[in-house]
Amino acid sequence: LPAKLPNTGTTIFTVMSALAAEHGAVNLGQGFPDFGADPALLQAVTEAMAAGHNQYPPMTGVPALRLGVAAKLNALYGAAYDADRDITITAGGTQGLITALHACVGAGDEVLIIEPAYDSYDPAIRLAGAVPVGVPMTMDYRLDWAAVRAAITPRTRALVLNTPHNPSGRVATADDLRELERLAEQHDLFVVSDEVYEHMVFDGAPHQSVARYPALRERSFLVSSFGKNFHVTGWKVGFVAAPPTLSAAFRRLHQYTVFTVHTPTQHALAAYLADPAPWQALSAFYQAKRDAFRAALDGTPLKLLPCEGTYFQTVDYRAVSTHGALPELDFARWLTTEIGVAAIPLSVFYQQPQQRGHVRFCFAKRDDTLAEAAQRLARLG
Ligand code: PMP
Ligand code: GLN
Repeated sequence: LPAKLPNTGTTIFTVMSALAAEHGAVNLGQGFPDFGADPALLQAVTEAMAAGHNQYPPMTGVPALRLGVAAKLNALYGAAYDADRDITITAGGTQGLITALHACVGAGDEVLIIEPAYDSYDPAIRLAGAVPVGVPMTMDYRLDWAAVRAAITPRTRALVLNTPHNPSGRVATADDLRELERLAEQHDLFVVSDEVYEHMVFDGAPHQSVARYPALRERSFLVSSFGKNFHVTGWKVGFVAAPPTLSAAFRRLHQYTVFTVHTPTQHALAAYLADPAPWQALSAFYQAKRDAFRAALDGTPLKLLPCEGTYFQTVDYRAVSTHGALPELDFARWLTTEIGVAAIPLSVFYQQPQQRGHVRFCFAKRDDTLAEAAQRLARLG
């Protein structure tokens, strides 16, 4: 076999979900809701099938869905993406990311990823023949522009941004985006902007999309996912928005790797997207869960780190008297098997694993699930 991704094991999400199932743990590891989607959305899929939407849609996606996406991006971020030319429907955010990266980088290019970095960036870049260069965030998980600047070389071709940020729950600021815009122009970089949590930003802060910044938009692939926004992670439908030249390069690859995405689901999402209420309500919905979960962990030795967006809460476990000194992966395993709550160690999101004593919990769960998890975590001494 050709040596593709040597030394790469099974993704942590698969590993921890299997461990949670094996030990009957409450699974706050892998990020997905344990509650149902809006019945109206589910109904719309079966209606689309009954109406005969069961053959290949256009390669770039069902037109009504692309129109809905373009209208939303326009309304939210003041960005004039053309539905026909600039929006492509993808098989989730993961495919959007890998195809965008393959469209803009190749052998010998360097791509900056901000660490901790979502686990698909590194292999996606390597598979394109390029070199992922990890740039650390600050110790409190803010973007460190001095470190980004220091990592840029003549071979740097692109940067992957992720805001709201998985796993830290941090959200980029307007100053961050302006700085990125300056750097990208100065060094002629492409930006792959992972905005799958765009509708989960708390405490009234705005989501800082690259689409808001015209010079940045011109060199960016904006990647999003309907799975997150509508509680249907298993549907694997998302989109990439990019200016004409970038979209053309994206589609050249998309047509031979994926071609099209499940037709009835796209029709259902198009109909559902026409009403802004569901995604407009999402931040408040998850903010309430965040607050309840944080309150429930109060009094445990787990120290809560800031959570400004996403559905992830990161904690520092070093004050756990019995096992606080364990490395992160060992602690996450122990927590799963002995305490009965699965978590994700942040160490897996680095090229050189860091050991800061941090694990991530997903709070996209029913209130009773979160209460059960909190009750188990209350046993920590
Ligand atoms: N980017 C980030 C930061 C994610 O957390 C995820 C998965 N939850 C994805 C991309 C992939 O999204 P999808 O499930 O739509 O492929
Ligand atoms: N993105 C989800 C998370 O961070 C998981 C996606 C996956 O399982 N690959 O938990």
